[in-house]
Amino acid sequence: MNSVPAAGNIILKMDTGLKLVIFDLDGTIVENSYDWPAIKRELGIQSGSILAYLDSLTEPERSVKYALLQRFEKEQTENSVLKEGVREFLDWLTEAGVKIALVTNNSLDNTGHLLKKFNLDFNLVLTRESGLHKPAGTPFLKVMEYFWVKADETAVVGDTNYDYLAAREAGIKRVFILKSKMTPAGLESAEIVDRFEQIKNKLAGNYSTQTDK
Ligand SMILES: [Mg+2]
Repeated sequence: MNSVPAAGNIILKMDTGLKLVIFDLDGTIVENSYDWPAIKRELGIQSGSILAYLDSLTEPERSVKYALLQRFEKEQTENSVLKEGVREFLDWLTEAGVKIALVTNNSLDNTGHLLKKFNLDFNLVLTRESGLHKPAGTPFLKVMEYFWVKADETAVVGDTNYDYLAAREAGIKRVFILKSKMTPAGLESAEIVDRFEQIKNKLAGNYSTQTDK
C-alpha cells in the first residue's frame, strides 16, 4: 500500500491497488468553453464524433474542415486556464507512485502548448495523432498496455460522456467526471464531482490518525 504524508500529522492513505490515473485535457486539466454543438453545426455534423466524421471525408473537404476545427481549438487553447487543484492532485498521485497519463482528442500542438504553459508533466501523453480517439476505449487500452496495468488498477478523470464511454469500453470502472455544463445526464456508474479534492478523498482509503513521527 502506498501512503503519502499529508499536512500535519495525518496520513492520507491511497486506495489499494490504484496504479494509473488517465486524465482528459480540455474541461478536466484546463478550463475552457468549447461550444461543441455550435462547432458541430459549423462543420455540418448531425451526430457522432467530430474526428470520426472528419476522417471519413475525402480531400479537399477533409483539410478545409480540419482547419476550421483547428481554428476553434487554437482560440480555446489560448484562453484556457488551469483548473483549481490540478497541480496538487497530480503531485499527490506522483508521490504515491501512481502513474499519470493524459489522453486527449486535441492535437499534439495544442496539448504541448498547454503543458508547457502550465508546466505540467505526465508520464505518458496520447493526442489525436495516435489515431486512437475517445469515445472508443482503444486509447485507454493502449495506455494500460504501456504501463502493464489492468483496468481494475486504473481510474479515469474526465468531464464528458466521451471519457465515460471510453472508460467503459476499456473495462475501467473507476470513473470520475468533473461537473461542467458539458456534463450530460445518464453517466450512471461514474462518480460526478465538483473538485479535484473530492476525487482525492474518494481515492484515499481513509484518513488515519497515525502520526508520522
Ligand atoms: Mg474534456
